[in-house]
Amino acid sequence: MKKFRKGIITHEEVSEITCNACNKIIWVFGKDTESIPPDFLEVSKDWGYSSKWDLENHSFDICMSCYDMIISNFKHPIQVEDYQAFINVK
Ligand SMILES: [Zn+2]
Repeated sequence: MKKFRKGIITHEEVSEITCNACNKIIWVFGKDTESIPPDFLEVSKDWGYSSKWDLENHSFDICMSCYDMIISNFKHPIQVEDYQAFINVK
């Protein structure tokens, strides 16, 4: 049996999102509460045994402008699935 005491629970929450590539502030907690926060690319990668970063997690955030610039340099275009067709189905 366990007895519990009251304690203070603290947690961390995101207060600001900055683009890792251009340093643009994407979103600030409390500042943009009335508008829809802009979307951005959020990447988190757990590298595996066959990589040079074995057992590391790499994460970063990219704003829409930098995302546009990055994908425009790809040799092969990204695959795009347009969800608009699903919304218009009646
Ligand atoms: Zn950026």
